[in-house]
Amino acid sequence: MEDDNDPAYGKPDFVLLDQVTMEDFMKNLKLRFEKNRIYTYIGEVLVSVNPYQELPLYGPEVIAQYQGHELYERPPHLYAVANAAYKAMKRRARDTCIVISGESGAGKTEASKHIMQYIAAVTNPSQRTEVERVKDVLLKSTCVLEAFGNARTSRNHNSSRFGKYMDINFNFKGDPIGGHIHSYLLEKSRVLKQHVGERNFHSFYQMLQGSEDKLLQELHLQRNPALYNFTRQGAGLSVTVLSNLNSDEMNHQAVTQAMGVIGFSPKEIASIHRILAAILHLGNIEFVETKEEGPEKGHLVVAEEVLVEYVAELTATPRDLVLRSLLARTVASGGRDLIEKGYSTAEACYARDACAKAVYQRLFEWIVDKINSVMEAQGRDPRRDGKDTVIGVLDIYGFEVFPVNSFEQFCINYCNEKLQQLFIQLILKQEQEEYQREGIAWQSINYFNNMAIVELVERPHRGILAVLDEACSSAGTITDRIFLQTLDTHHRHHPHYTSRQLCPTDKSMEFGRDFQIKHYAGNVTYSVEGFIDKNRDLLFQDFKRLLYSSTDPTLRAMWPDGQQGITEVTKRPLTAGTLFKNSMVALVENLASKEPYYVRCIKPNEDKVAGRLDESYCRHQVAYLGLLENVRVRRAGFAFRQPYPRFLLRYKMTCEYTWPNHLLGSDKAAVSALLEQSGLLGDVVFGHTKLFIRSPHTLVVLEQSRAR
Ligand code: ATP
Ligand code: MG
Repeated sequence: MEDDNDPAYGKPDFVLLDQVTMEDFMKNLKLRFEKNRIYTYIGEVLVSVNPYQELPLYGPEVIAQYQGHELYERPPHLYAVANAAYKAMKRRARDTCIVISGESGAGKTEASKHIMQYIAAVTNPSQRTEVERVKDVLLKSTCVLEAFGNARTSRNHNSSRFGKYMDINFNFKGDPIGGHIHSYLLEKSRVLKQHVGERNFHSFYQMLQGSEDKLLQELHLQRNPALYNFTRQGAGLSVTVLSNLNSDEMNHQAVTQAMGVIGFSPKEIASIHRILAAILHLGNIEFVETKEEGPEKGHLVVAEEVLVEYVAELTATPRDLVLRSLLARTVASGGRDLIEKGYSTAEACYARDACAKAVYQRLFEWIVDKINSVMEAQGRDPRRDGKDTVIGVLDIYGFEVFPVNSFEQFCINYCNEKLQQLFIQLILKQEQEEYQREGIAWQSINYFNNMAIVELVERPHRGILAVLDEACSSAGTITDRIFLQTLDTHHRHHPHYTSRQLCPTDKSMEFGRDFQIKHYAGNVTYSVEGFIDKNRDLLFQDFKRLLYSSTDPTLRAMWPDGQQGITEVTKRPLTAGTLFKNSMVALVENLASKEPYYVRCIKPNEDKVAGRLDESYCRHQVAYLGLLENVRVRRAGFAFRQPYPRFLLRYKMTCEYTWPNHLLGSDKAAVSALLEQSGLLGDVVFGHTKLFIRSPHTLVVLEQSRAR
């Protein structure tokens, strides 16, 4: 392993920089990146740069080098962070969480996988079968969820299109005994439409490319994704960046195998394939109005009836009912009378698409539930009144800007604002609390606080989500354009909001269509087209009842709300935006209650190429992630801190009073004697249990005297 004090590799901790300027920060980041040192600390925060190439940084041997060591004793690494979180959990029975952030393609998902691998490798030395099973499920679940929840976008060929927070439960021995996954807002509009150069969710291509001929025949499918409207756009695009190790075909085998390990039955796996196939056929259904004279004139029919048969067969529902749900909907008129209201072509297309999206979303949620059901924690930790201790790992979609940004990007970027807000609060709060606890005085540092942006989105009554909900509740009379006008009225003076109406000279926006938010990470222009519709997220009852009527128990289980009778009074369901906001508020509360560890990921260039770090591109990320302020806070306080016994363990050999044995009563007194002899007393402060070292230089001196 490298000697990380060698200046040729740059500083392993940005806190050690001679000056905290952007120039110095970037120089160090670049130098380390060029030497394949992709990890660097800011105190306990890990900064990671995506190398876009396989580096020999992982695996059992490297894991062994980190196991049982303190954060600073080894070169910066994800394993060290995982180890720190694990130790805090094990030693102090503290719930911890690892929050991984950074923009799309910065390496969050890969980082989360390395963390999971570390935890799996260092636990359960006695190989208990039940614990091994839990670990297997934890590791394999990632592969399955990626297949169904990730897709190729222009920014990342394996982009997470859902948010994932995974809790791992540990027993008092420190072995994983269960887990739970929360998923957040799957970008289901992708089922219908993908931008140029992007694909639908991997699952579709994997099934088409990887299934045996016989299965495809049973599903009435052909292998070529260009034959289906929902996969046509992305047909021919591959997912691999690094090499062709993971083709869709191979991933199909891996995913099917992983599902088996997790405990999906062969019947359930077959149902999943049928559901995917049904969605593809649904996407090819088109509608025409009959031209024949007579009472039927102008009625809607399905262009290719065989597709309806396929859908009915694959979903195990009656063909006539499928057809009827596609062409009309049942409404309760007045009292109990039910009438059928035929669709126009546009309405039928809308209903079909809503159905396809909803079926995929329910499938995804069902898969998450299934994984959760087999991971339910069994053991209990007696130290915590029977509660387990938990490590949470958050890997959620990164901040993103596309040429056209819609409701989905709005939600994703709001989520990133929330997480940035949490980072600000925790990093400051944590420092302050530590100083207080140890009885040390402290002065606060200024941060750019993004609270105003969070409030612009989520404030009750006037916030963007509230205005959107208002527009959605008004029985179809309010258009996206009117929604935009209302926003303009409410927020015309907001420093982080603008629109073409408010700023007529800004040609990056279109009149009556766009608004712009000045996010902490940059300006994003959102097109309001479809906002109301996506927020309302309407699916007609007929489809729910249809799918609940399925004789396939797996599919039926996904549609419990299809039981409801048409005349039963239904409360207006919460909108997609409000549900998302509520889930974000809960997530942030949950994270804030745990001891946090942070991984801040940086994307080195926009072209996904190895070994190239574009300075201005990265500088922007360093700025908006608040990394310089992070260094400053860390330095204005104390660069390093260490419990007295730990400190002695590492440095006792540098002083005659402490080596081989110290005879000075307390560890604190021994540390004091050691520092006095080295002439370093002026740079440290003694807390109740820890030594605080102000300048990084002191640590360097100590390290040097140790090496002597
Ligand atoms: P999104 O927000 O879009 O989900 P992300 O931050 O999760 O993005 P990843 O999917 O983790 O990004 O990484 C994108 C790609 O970068 C990976 O598919 C892989 O090719 C490469 N990559 C990321 N981290 C590493 C690493 N440590 N070593 C090698 N390659 C990596
Ligand atoms: Mg990801």
